[in-house]
Amino acid sequence: MSQFTNPEPVNKAPLTENFTWPEGKKSALFTSFDVDAESVWLGMDAKNEERLVTLSYGGYEARVGLPKILELLARHEVPATFFVTGWTVDAYPGLCEAILKGGHEIGHHGYMHYRPEPGNLDLMAEEIDRGLEAMQRRLGITPVGYRAPGGEGYNDFLDLMQQRGLRYSSSWRDDILPYRHVVKGKPGMVEIPVNFSYDDWLYGITHRTASRALFGREAVLGIWKDEFDQTHEWGGVTTTVLHPQVSGRPMRFKILHEFLSHVRAHDDVWLATGKDISTHFESYEAVRDRS
Ligand SMILES: [Zn+2]
Repeated sequence: MSQFTNPEPVNKAPLTENFTWPEGKKSALFTSFDVDAESVWLGMDAKNEERLVTLSYGGYEARVGLPKILELLARHEVPATFFVTGWTVDAYPGLCEAILKGGHEIGHHGYMHYRPEPGNLDLMAEEIDRGLEAMQRRLGITPVGYRAPGGEGYNDFLDLMQQRGLRYSSSWRDDILPYRHVVKGKPGMVEIPVNFSYDDWLYGITHRTASRALFGREAVLGIWKDEFDQTHEWGGVTTTVLHPQVSGRPMRFKILHEFLSHVRAHDDVWLATGKDISTHFESYEAVRDRS
């Protein structure tokens, strides 16, 4: 069936109705980072392997960005999820241990940061398996969440991830509440949709191959506060898509610090990891299905 000849709703997941957050909180903040390090640049173009300055954009993440972000989260007492590529786990196991030691969650972000694209299921199976293997071998953990590098997805891949034991995805753009995917008529993974306004890559990276002006504090903080305030009023989840190689830069670090201060001025926001949110959604389903 083609959407060109037989239009029908693409997302078959039912709306999440009569949903509440734990502890009487009004909304949730899902602070999440994609930890790509050099793998985003290697995955983009294999020739970058010898382009050391290009790779150094990612190298900043390990040398400065991620440690600074961990300090900032500790200062604000905000738990977070870091979606880490397997390449990064292998290259920087110590950094990943520091993430876990900070009380944060590590999620799956592929191995070489290859983007899911319809037709590349074999490649994606390898990405998932290599990532799981690296996390088990280096850190002794099995992640339950996945965020797609480059933000794409398709049904066969959702199926595959579920078979590999992953419980939630955080890549879709179509809601402010978590929901459960329906894949080929069957219940799939939980989705915690992202808000692309919190993708710092859009505002804070400029590179020889993508040369552009950066967005400063006024522009970005204004968007972030407004998105949060309205999502809070609607009782949704504010899901960020931050990158330590961007938000760990000095000026951008200040923006994130101010944003977190703004959120922390509220006492009715549930600060949660992706695992917390997907577990909470599963208990909501259990109650809903009993009644
Ligand atoms: Zn990424």
